[in-house]
Amino acid sequence: YDVNSLINAVPNLGKLAVITGEQVANIGSQDMSDEVWLKLAKRVNAVLAESGIDGVLITHGTDTLEETSYFLSLVTKSDKPVVMVGSMRPATAISADGPGNIYNGVAVVADPRAKGKGTLVVLNDTIHYARNVMKTDTTSVQTFQSLNRGPAGVVHTGKIAWFEPMDKKQGKASEFSLDTLEKLPRVDIIYAHANMSADLIDAAIKNGAKGLVIAGVGDGNMTTPALDVLTQVAKNGVVVVRSTRLAAGLVLRNNEVNDDEKGFVASGELNPAKSRVLLQLALTKTTDPVLIQKMFYEY
Ligand code: ASP
Repeated sequence: YDVNSLINAVPNLGKLAVITGEQVANIGSQDMSDEVWLKLAKRVNAVLAESGIDGVLITHGTDTLEETSYFLSLVTKSDKPVVMVGSMRPATAISADGPGNIYNGVAVVADPRAKGKGTLVVLNDTIHYARNVMKTDTTSVQTFQSLNRGPAGVVHTGKIAWFEPMDKKQGKASEFSLDTLEKLPRVDIIYAHANMSADLIDAAIKNGAKGLVIAGVGDGNMTTPALDVLTQVAKNGVVVVRSTRLAAGLVLRNNEVNDDEKGFVASGELNPAKSRVLLQLALTKTTDPVLIQKMFYEY
C-alpha cells in the first residue's frame, strides 16, 4: 500500500491535522534491515527539524514494530512526537483495524501532551512507550502489550488519557547519534533451549558478530557448554548480553549468573529484540561491558 491510499482510507483525518504523506519504504516488516532503520531515522530527524512540522506518524508492519520503534526512540533528537501504528487485519478484511489505528495515531501526534514522550506505538486503542511494547499474539488485534509496566495511555476515537511517565532516557536525552553513522555493528540473537550447544555462538562469531544477545531460558540462563563458550567470547572482546525468551520480568545482574566475573551484561527489562537495538547503538560508542551495562540501566 502506498502511503497516500492509507491516509485517504481514514475518514475525518483532515479534521485532526494537516497531513502530508511520504514513502520511505514499502516492505513487510519481517524484511526490516539496519539500512532501512538508518534511512528512516535520518529522514525523521530531518522532518522534525522543520519548523512547520509538529510531529510524525509512521505506518509499519507489526512483526518488527517493537524494535524499529525502540531504535527511533533512541536516535530521534526532538521533543516532537513520533508515533508508529500498524494493523493486524488487512485493509480488505472485515473490521480492518488500520484506519482506526491511523486515526488514533494522528490524534496522539496532535496532542500537546505527547511532546517529549519519545517514540510511541498506537494500536487497538492503546498507547505504548516504544521501550516497553512487544507483539505478544500472532493474529489478535490485541497483540501489542507492555507487559512489565503497562501502557502509556489509552486513546479511543481520538480521545486520550495518559497514564505513566517514562523515566528512561530517550529522544533528546539519548547520547546516540546517527549523524556520522553509515552502518550499525553486527549483533546476533541466539535462542536458548534444552540441550543447547555452543555451535550457533561459534557461527555468529565466525561471521563477524561484535555483540551477542542470548534469548535465555528463565532469568537469562543457558546450558553450561553455551555459558563456557560465551565466557571466552566475552574475554575476547565481544559483548554478551543476557536477555530472556520469556515475555515478562527482568533479567537480573549477578542473580543466577555471575555477570561481574564473566564480563556479561544483564538486559533488565529489555527483550532480545530491544536488547539487540540498544547493543548495536552502544557498540558505536564503546565495547566496555561495564559502560554498556550502565546504558542498559539508563535506556
Ligand atoms: N508480516 C507483516 C509485517 O509485519 C504483518 C503486518 O503487516 O502487520 O509487515
